[in-house]
Amino acid sequence: DAGLYIVATPIGNLGDLSPRAAATLARVALIAAEDSRVTARLLHHIGARVPMLAYHDHSDDGVRRAIVARALQEPVALTSDAGTPLISDPGFKLVRDARAAGVNIVTVPGPCAAIAALTLAGLPTDRFLFAGFLPAKAGARATAIAELAEIRATLVLYESGPRLAASLAALAQGLGDRDAAVGRELTKRFEETVTGRLSELATRYVDAPPRGEIVITIAPPGAAPAADAETLDAALLAALADAS
Ligand code: SAM
Repeated sequence: DAGLYIVATPIGNLGDLSPRAAATLARVALIAAEDSRVTARLLHHIGARVPMLAYHDHSDDGVRRAIVARALQEPVALTSDAGTPLISDPGFKLVRDARAAGVNIVTVPGPCAAIAALTLAGLPTDRFLFAGFLPAKAGARATAIAELAEIRATLVLYESGPRLAASLAALAQGLGDRDAAVGRELTKRFEETVTGRLSELATRYVDAPPRGEIVITIAPPGAAPAADAETLDAALLAALADAS
């Protein structure tokens, strides 16, 4: 059973750790973890003790080679701090190199914030584009949003509380004032999903940046009114000014 096991972990609610994920983590010889302290808490929860190694995609090639070599001999797991490894998290380069080396690669799928948010938003799910985090700088963010404007699919983005209002305002300007949903603290105690036009959501959050982890989902183009900066109210423009 040597191989590289890609193990998804909860995005908040420990009850979402699957029995197969727990069994895999408990029996591997090594866990390559994004942050070993975070994975240590999970191991404690399931009563397992397993050697760990910190792994990031910017870890040097030697670390990656060592993990690949171990995975050719023994079972090795990859975990990230929350959710599915490789999804806005480390792992792509490790899987690429493991595949090139002929390692047996096994996925143990489970929670993913993007998919959880999509199931809650009430937006079409037949076609969606996961775009990760928008760039932090206003210029790069506007360029990224202009590219997204062409995509005929529901858009899914990760965001942080402090940047939420500015991002929603920039999205309203760049995409048109589409229907959207803000999913926050999913599977946790203060979980909520708030729906509305992008401009309404920007206005809602500009004076009260929310705490916690956030996924923005946005309707495909077509149903929304044309982008019109004049319809964006003062709070929205203030949010944009704040961000630049
Ligand atoms: N690999 C993870 C996954 O499968 O969802 C995502 C890792 S990414 C570094 C972290 C981001 O995911 C957060 O900033 C937030 O945007 C989103 N996220 C993670 N957990 C979440 C939750 N419980 N509720 C809402 N968003 C969450």
